[in-house]
Amino acid sequence: MSTVAVVGASLAGLAAADTLRQGGHDGTIVVVDRSARLPVDRPPLSKQLLAGEWEPERAHQPLANKVGDLGLDLRLGVSATALEVGSRTLTLSDGSSLAADAVVLAMGAAPRRLPGPPLAGVHVVRDLDDCLALRADLEVGPSRVAVIGAGFIGAEVAATCRGRGLEVSMIEAAPAPMVRVLPGEIGGFVADLHRDQGVDVRLGVGVEGLVDDGAGRVAGVRMADGTVIDAGVVVVGIGVVPEVDWLDGSGLVLDNGVRCDETCLAAPGVVAAGDVASWPNPLFGEVMRVEQWEHGIEMGEAAGRRVLAGLADEWRGPGDPFPAVPWFWSDQYDRKIQMAGRPAATDEAVLVEGTIEERRFAVAFRRGDRCTGVLAVNRPRHAIQARMKLQASLDWAPIAEMFGV
Ligand SMILES: Cc1cc2nc3c(=O)[nH]c(=O)nc-3n(C[C@H](O)[C@H](O)[C@H](O)COP(=O)(O)OP(=O)(O)OC[C@H]3O[C@@H](n4cnc5c(N)ncnc54)[C@H](O)[C@@H]3O)c2cc1C
Repeated sequence: MSTVAVVGASLAGLAAADTLRQGGHDGTIVVVDRSARLPVDRPPLSKQLLAGEWEPERAHQPLANKVGDLGLDLRLGVSATALEVGSRTLTLSDGSSLAADAVVLAMGAAPRRLPGPPLAGVHVVRDLDDCLALRADLEVGPSRVAVIGAGFIGAEVAATCRGRGLEVSMIEAAPAPMVRVLPGEIGGFVADLHRDQGVDVRLGVGVEGLVDDGAGRVAGVRMADGTVIDAGVVVVGIGVVPEVDWLDGSGLVLDNGVRCDETCLAAPGVVAAGDVASWPNPLFGEVMRVEQWEHGIEMGEAAGRRVLAGLADEWRGPGDPFPAVPWFWSDQYDRKIQMAGRPAATDEAVLVEGTIEERRFAVAFRRGDRCTGVLAVNRPRHAIQARMKLQASLDWAPIAEMFGV
């Protein structure tokens, strides 16, 4: 009976383990995670949990209730520290080693931090402890919260802090919020949304450093334009880096995460999935790494299927490619922002429903005769329909027909 080792017990890792069991794998599945408890679901960390509306027990991952039935050898509080790719042997932080017939790498990503010594009152938001520490600081009632970075996590944290009645500054070096997922100028509506709610939005200006109050606590943010924003709490949301340092020297290609082929395979017997994995998405003809919730599940499942196929044919067959339409949502105030696809800044943005001013609209992104994505704001039905169309084909014509443009 074969053994599969999974590194990471979060969305992608558990989706892979579940797929293995669903697909009939009856051998051992060892799942290691450096977290001492089963990781919680991350989206509520910047929304309901941070707002104080939920307690941690409610933020369980989708497969958490099923873990007991999967017959896993679940080792929490244990990190993988090295991988010998040829023999698929992991070295673990408890001093043991684990030889497996297949390895699933699903370690996610770690938040970037600002350089300099740590200061009290400065936070990132990636896991439960981060969220609870920030929440405790917010409960003290700081004079102002400065959020550095207006990506989707920064923008959500800013909205949640504002919802708690706090004064908020949101600082972004790019000319618009959420530029990595909302290309070009389209993210401008997010800035307006926050301004309407009284957030002090600073775009196109970098951060020079943090101000220390002299007692090891943050007192503000020093901007590159010479101004200082006084703030008792600072949240750093400047992106993440894939958790691959421990794989240095393993022989795997580490290029914006663990680089896989079209089938999620990084080396014979080694697959990767979720935030940590990059792969050439055959649907888009582009190498992508996607940091989105549903993608974690979908790629985890694809990685599980790849392992089943590889164990059956001793890694000789080509495996099935993993075509994916990335999909995310973000909740800010009373707006639900949903996006299917992966448009580029050079794609034409065509308004297909509503108006941007009323912040209830849909935009389809066009590249020649292809549609590379559809963004919908408070238009959930359109978002879901467009997603299904794109999953069938990236042709522009069906999207144009659907929206009547
Ligand atoms: C605050 C927040 C809000 C979000 N909101 C949304 C949203 O609204 N919509 C959306 O689409 N997406 C959202 N996301 C993104 C989504 O949650 C992630 O894309 C998803 O969690 C990725 O799953 P994963 O399994 O790849 O990685 P992770 O969830 O990061 O899990 C990786 C696991 O691997 C473990 N690990 C790492 N290294 C090791 C090691 N060496 N050994 C052992 N274990 C290791 C970690 O402890 C972790 O448990 C949000 C993310 C965050 C942080």
